[in-house]
Formats: sequence, structure tokens, C-alpha cells
Amino acid sequence: MKIVISYPPLKTKKGYPTLGQNRQFQYFRDPTFIYPVVPAIAATLLKENGFEVVWNDCLAENISYDKFVEIIQEEKPDLIAFETKTPVIKQHWKIINDLYKLRTPDYELRTVLFGDHVTALPEESFQNSLVDFVLTGGDYDFLLLNLCNNLQLEASTLKTENLEPGIWYREEGQIRNSGQFKLDHDLNSLPFIDRNITKWQLYAYKNGNYKRRPGTYIMSGRDCWWGNCSFCSWSTLYPKFRVRSVRNVLDEIGMLVERQKIKEIMDDCGTFPVGDWLKEFCHGMIQRGYHQKIYFDCNMRFGALSLEDYELMKKAGFRLLLFGLESANQATLDRLNKNLKLEKIIEDCKSATRLGLFPHITIMFGYPWEDWEDALRTLQLGRWLLKKGLAYTMQATLVVPYPGTSLFEECKQKSWLKTINWEEYDMKTPVMQTPIPDEKIMELVQGMYKVSFDPRFILRKLFSLKDMDDLRYCFRAAKKVIGHIFDFNRR
Ligand code: SF4
Repeated sequence: MKIVISYPPLKTKKGYPTLGQNRQFQYFRDPTFIYPVVPAIAATLLKENGFEVVWNDCLAENISYDKFVEIIQEEKPDLIAFETKTPVIKQHWKIINDLYKLRTPDYELRTVLFGDHVTALPEESFQNSLVDFVLTGGDYDFLLLNLCNNLQLEASTLKTENLEPGIWYREEGQIRNSGQFKLDHDLNSLPFIDRNITKWQLYAYKNGNYKRRPGTYIMSGRDCWWGNCSFCSWSTLYPKFRVRSVRNVLDEIGMLVERQKIKEIMDDCGTFPVGDWLKEFCHGMIQRGYHQKIYFDCNMRFGALSLEDYELMKKAGFRLLLFGLESANQATLDRLNKNLKLEKIIEDCKSATRLGLFPHITIMFGYPWEDWEDALRTLQLGRWLLKKGLAYTMQATLVVPYPGTSLFEECKQKSWLKTINWEEYDMKTPVMQTPIPDEKIMELVQGMYKVSFDPRFILRKLFSLKDMDDLRYCFRAAKKVIGHIFDFNRR
């Protein structure tokens, strides 16, 4: 049985869609390609279990639609799997319907969708397309293997009683499912990603997080031990947190360092594990000598680490720490359920930078309850952190209430949604009613990026250059900033 795991080409003039493994979808002029870790594990699992697997990322490989169809015609897969997301779901439905024209009496092509949007709204895809299966929850690697095992057993009639919970399918004209998904799989039982079948080089260079290249991604856990922020689309996929053993993660890092000659690793756990796990991990990095061979980056929460933790992380090879700042207003942080005190933001940025780590901050604008003064406070805090050198880089975005999040439910209750045309959930324009006009919100986002033209910011960056890697990194970052200013231009 042959399975294609695909990111099909998407027709758009808005830029490159940053779809794979992305909590926040955007079109970029200057694309960042994130290694789609869970789909890549799915490909590896399938291969290890005797299935033929084709990795087909048309977005990263810049493959045209005609070429994509040609590939599918040549490969003749039994099943095509797409990771999907709210702004592109309608395009995926159309592609699925198009692909079904390739079916013949001798060739039964089937399709499967997975991701946070279809986890929130699984029936919608059956109602709007000919899709055969939807996998809900974030363990779609395990679920895809389970589905393929069952399809292999019964080519014509699926033995639905053997399906794991979380799989949606059609039966006798009805939409049915195998129950609520469970996240009870053991992450340590998963194989390390087969980087070759998943074309690791596609994701090793065009990624703004890496200072040294080639870089790559891993995930130490799924997905965030906090998991309660009201806007977070991945808490829909992973309502429960699980972490791999330290040894398992270190072994994978060792393999990447030795075999792939990777120079920087980004861990894409929603929030990296802390406490004893983190300490053991840092000591392991040092004992095995990986701290001298690679930089290690991760997502982190403000208020989660002590000064000693930052110190140990620096020694262990950590470099970039990505923090969700979201807003400079305590009332907003509370409404978002961030469980964060405002003063911890500055305190942690100071601690991290003092110890030689590089905080990257993410900021959002367009909250329905924030007025101009509130938004301006966020802009000012973000700019101040960057100019003072307390934050190294940043990302400013619009808040998007993805289906499945509690923010989306709140929007529905309070009639804040301006549209439920999912294509508009792409950050090109605000989709929630706010007291601030849309143009002004877009200006705020651009205002954040324009701090890069501030002479003090530029001077600070110039004085911080230590080597050619720094220079190249700054050059790439500048290119990205200019791209982002255009990304947030109103249509
Ligand atoms: S801390 Fe980050 S990953 Fe965790 S729930 Fe909040 S937004 Fe999501």
C-alpha cells in the first residue's frame, strides 16, 4: 500500500503559505519552512511498518499544481494525507474533489485530512468535500498508521471496530467516528524521524530561527505543559501534555549531530519541559558534548524559569528562547489565561540576556477588548525590549480566533466574528470586531517591525556582531523584517 504525505500547491497571490507544523498560519513574502515534525514521524512510522511512503511538500519544493497532479498520476497512491489549517481548508476541499477525478474502476484513491481545524470541526470537511477520513487530535502519526493497517487488511470494507479513537469516516452515506481521540500513545515508542525520506534539506536553511545552518526541528513532547491560553490552536490538538524521556531526546540529538551534521536544533514543543526534566537534559547535553557542537532553541514561557535555569541552559548550548509576550496589559494576559504577571516579562528578558541567551518575543494585536491606548502600550513595551537589547528578535501578528479555541467560542457568544469565511483567517486582515480600525491595527503590526530601522537598534546589533554567522544571521533577519512589513500591508 502506498501513501503520499503531501502539502499540495495552493493557488494564491498572497505569498508563501506557512502551513506545515504551524500554530499560526500566515502568508510570507520571505518564507520560513518549519520541519513538519509530526507528519515526518508519520512517514517514518509507516515506512517502518512496511508501507511505501512518498513525501511531497509542494510548498517547500515550489511544485506547480499541474506537476503535483502529474506526480499523483505517476505514483498512484492508495491514500493521500494532508495537514490542513483554517485559512486553507477550502482549497484543500477543492483539491480533494479534483483528485477524485483521477479515480477509475481499478484505482481507488482515498484522502485523509488532519490538523487543528479538522479536529475542531471534523464533520464540516465531509459535508464540503469528498474526503474519506479525518484524523482528530495531535497523534495523527499513530492514527495514520492505525488507519493504514486497517485499510490494508480490508481493501474494500473498512473494519471500523479496529480503528483507534479519533478517526472519522463515511459509512453507508453517514459520517461516523471511532470515538473521542485519546492521547495515550507512548512518545518514546516512536522512531526518530527518517530525515532522508522526509527531505530534511528542504527545511534546513530557509528558517529565520537558525543562526547556524543546516538546522532542524525535533519535538521533546506534545505539546505544552501549560496548554491553557485561550487563543492557542494547538491546545485543540493536545489537551494533554506528554514528554519523551531525556535519554530518548538526547539520542535523537546525537544522531542528528553525528549523521546529519546539524548545527542548530529547534525544539518545537509548545513549551519546552522545565524542572527536573530540564536540568537532566542540560546535564546530558554537557556530558555528551553536544553543547559544543550545536545551538539549541526552544519555545518557553515567561515566569517558568529561575536564574539558575537560564545559567544552566546557556552552559548546555541553548541560544534562542521563543517567548509569547502577547500583550503589555495585565487584563489581556488574564483574559487570555496566560497565567503570567506582566513584571515577569521584563525580569525574564533581563535574566536571559544577562546570561547570554537570546529571547525572541511574539506579540499580538487586534484583541476585541483592547483600545488604542492598550495596543500602544504593547507596541511600546516590545520596541523598548528590542531597543534595550533585552529581546533579540520578535514576531508581531494579528490575533486569530481559530475554531476549537476558547477564544473562538467567546467570539461566537459575543458576536465578535466579522466573518466565518475561513480564507480570511490568514492575518491579512482582522477577523474580530475591535475598537481599533483595521488600518490602525495593521499599522501597529508594521510599527513593531519598523523598530529595526531605529538607529539605536541598528547600532546595538552592529556592536553585538561576533562572527560571520552573526553577520549572515542579521542579514537574513533584515530581509525577513522587510518582507514582514509588506506581509502586513492591507490588500
Ligand atoms: S504557552 Fe504557548 S503553546 Fe502553551 S498554551 Fe499558551 S500559546 Fe499555547
